[in-house]
Formats: sequence, C-alpha cells, structure tokens
Amino acid sequence: MEFETRNCWEVYRDDEHRAAMDKLAADYIEFLSWCKTERETITWLTEKASSQGFNEGFNQNRFLKIHKGKSLIMARRGKKPLAQGLRIMGAHADTPRLDLKQRPLYEECQVSLAKTHYYGGIRKYQWLAMPLALHGVVIKTDGNKIEIRIGEKPDEPVFTIGDLLPHLAYKQIEKKLSEAFEAEKLNVILGHIPMSSSKEKENDKNPVKKGVLKTLNERFGMVEEDFYSAELQAVPAGPARYVGLDKGLIGGYGHDDRVCTFAGYRAFMNQEDPEYTQVLIIWDKEEIGSEGSSGAKSLFLEYSLEEILEQWEPETRLRNVFENTKAVSADVHAAMDPDYQDVHEKLNASLLGHGPVFCKFTGHRGKVGANDAHAEYVGWLRSILNKAGIPWQMAETGKVDLGGGGTVAKFLAVYGMDIIDFGPGVLGMHSPFEICSKADIYASLLAYEQFFKN
Ligand code: MN
Ligand code: MN
Repeated sequence: MEFETRNCWEVYRDDEHRAAMDKLAADYIEFLSWCKTERETITWLTEKASSQGFNEGFNQNRFLKIHKGKSLIMARRGKKPLAQGLRIMGAHADTPRLDLKQRPLYEECQVSLAKTHYYGGIRKYQWLAMPLALHGVVIKTDGNKIEIRIGEKPDEPVFTIGDLLPHLAYKQIEKKLSEAFEAEKLNVILGHIPMSSSKEKENDKNPVKKGVLKTLNERFGMVEEDFYSAELQAVPAGPARYVGLDKGLIGGYGHDDRVCTFAGYRAFMNQEDPEYTQVLIIWDKEEIGSEGSSGAKSLFLEYSLEEILEQWEPETRLRNVFENTKAVSADVHAAMDPDYQDVHEKLNASLLGHGPVFCKFTGHRGKVGANDAHAEYVGWLRSILNKAGIPWQMAETGKVDLGGGGTVAKFLAVYGMDIIDFGPGVLGMHSPFEICSKADIYASLLAYEQFFKN
C-alpha cells in the first residue's frame, strides 16, 4: 500500500546490468569530455547519427535537420498515422558558462585579459582560480569559420580567472554573497609575454595584448575585429571523471543537460519500427529562457513537423498531430544535497541513485510560470515504467518558497501536447563540476526507451 522509491543499484545488481551500466558510463564520459558547447554537441550527434543512417533531409523513413549548428531534430516514422500523435523527447545542449564579450581584449598589470559576460545561472565564485578552456567559432568577413578549442589536451595551455588572496579579502568577506563577486571581475587571463617593438613609443601601448593578438594571428589568422563575429566560451578545462572510490558517480561540466541529450539520443537510436513516429529534438538557449532562433520558443519544431507532414502525410493537419502527441522534456533535476538538505522538502525531493525524476510542474512560488503535467499523463507514464520495472521518483525543485526554475516543457505544452520534465538528479547543478549517478544515467536510458516504445 505504501510507496517507496527504489535504489537502482539494488534493482540493477546483476552482472549483465552492471556491465551495461559501466559501458554506458564510459561512453558518456567520452561524450561529455568532448562536447562542451551546443555547437560541439550538435556536431557530435550528427556525426554519430550519420553512421546510423540519419543524414540531413529525408532518408527513407528518417528525417534529420540542423538549425544554425545549434539545434537539431531527428524523426523516425512510425506505423501509425501521424494524426495519432508523436513521441517527442526534447533536451538542451547549452550550458552555463562565460562568453567572451564582443570586444574582450585588454591588458592590465602585465597580463592580457578577456572580458566576459556570463551565460545562464552561475554562482560567480565557482569560476575563479580554476583551469578554463576556450571553445567556439570565429567567423571571418569572407564567411570562413575558424573553430577554436584550446585547453583540453594535456600539452595545451589553459586560461583562468584569478581570485583575491585571503590576506586582502577582509573587506570582501563581510559583503553579501550577491555583492562580493562582480561580473565585471570575471576576466579571463589570456597571456603575459609582451610583443617586443622597436618602433615609436606610442606603438608600445598594450604590448601584452598585442602579444596575444600576434599569437592569435599566427595560429588562426585572426585580427582583433574578428572577435565581433565570434562566439567564444570559457568553460571548465579537462575531461569528465569518475567520482568516489567505487566510481559510482560521474563528475563533469554540463550534465545539465548533456546527460539527457546523451541518454535521449541513445534511447532514440535503440528503436526500430516504432508504432508512433518518434522525434528527438535538441535545443539551444534553454539556460537563458529558451529565447532566440535556436531555442525552444522558436518555430523550429513547428516548421520541421510541417516538412515531415508534407513529405509523409500531406493530408494531415499539424494541430491534430500536436494534440495527440506525448512528450518528455528530458532535463536534469536537483538531487537532494547531503550538505543542504534543509532547502529540500524530503517527501518531495529526489535521491541520487533512485532513478530518473519526474517534475510534474516547474515554476516558482505558487507554481507561477509552470508547465503542469496532467494527472492522466503521469498515470500513463507510471504504468509503462512500472511494467518495465524501472525505478523512478517524483520531486519538486526544493522547498516551496526557496526558489524554482523552468525548462522547455511549457513552450511545447502550448501546442496542446502532453509533456512532463523527466531526467536524472544532479548535485551541484550549474557548477563547473556537476555530479550524476552512474545508475541514474542507466535507468534514465531504459526509461527513455520505454517512453519512445509505448
Ligand atoms: Mn536543464
Ligand atoms: Mn540548467
């Protein structure tokens, strides 16, 4: 009669499950270590998808479309007519980080620095005094795209933002956390060696900055103006790692939401001859409110489905497809933090290792701004997972008046489809080193497979 969540480590204790879990974790670590920006994630996914017969445009009963290199949709045609609805899974590939400003370069005190504008919800102090890598693209005036990725290989230099020494922080530590760390102090150190100049004295202005420009010019053919048409992101340097003596956890940058992107992609690829047409969509810009032409508020999904209808079932109306569609917003949830249990309400909090987490509604303080999944839909999801023996849990983001959040769910809900947030728990969400449970990643994959299948 009573309900208790189940521990995935107990449910999946036999050798076969553990071996599959280990393999999945190793593959995921490789993926997470490589994909640190939305562009890199979309490139990785499309390369892998291509080897499985998904290429841009229509190919038999398959469809793939990329938008601006930052969002992606894939579809596999099912046996049932489209008017009976789709199975859509959406996740996001963008992650909180520090974007270089469009005019970033300057020098002070014999170091050259780059100014940044943070992207998404970060805790600024977490980005100080740690190795950072620079990822992104620079578009030249002739349209040429230069791909930049520095700081990931062991023999490459990294970048960093210096922090104030404790000896001189007496005043700073008295400040409120929200005031102690300023965005305009999140400046990334890029170089130190001045460019030697034998010319006139005024040419000797900014020699260290010039040194950095010289290196950029020699290596990438860049000039300073090129930063205006660049998208460069400072992200934590280095690979994702196992955490803990038992390697039961995975730590890395960007579990939110690459863990769902990865598990969703795997689940999508593991399907064959489905009943309902299956769609996987990977968004950009979720972390800043799903804005822009590559975010979930855009018409990318709608336009892509129009294309699919035209090709596969021109008689069908899009609104009938949407109304009968079941969708999952595959996104991570805040797992109960052992050190900050007081921000959670335990009956409605999630535990690491107890499987993927449903979040029936998002929003904040009185469910404002929420998608709220219908009870009928939750009932259906519960039944398919229970039938497959997959552990799941349901939680709210934290105590009612303490905070909240939003996902892409509400932007898909406007079409009338059923949608709910569903994904593994994460510790230290939005930090440079987020923690996920290996068992949850495995259970999420199995759960996503069931969603697509049913
Ligand atoms: Mn997310
Ligand atoms: Mn997030």
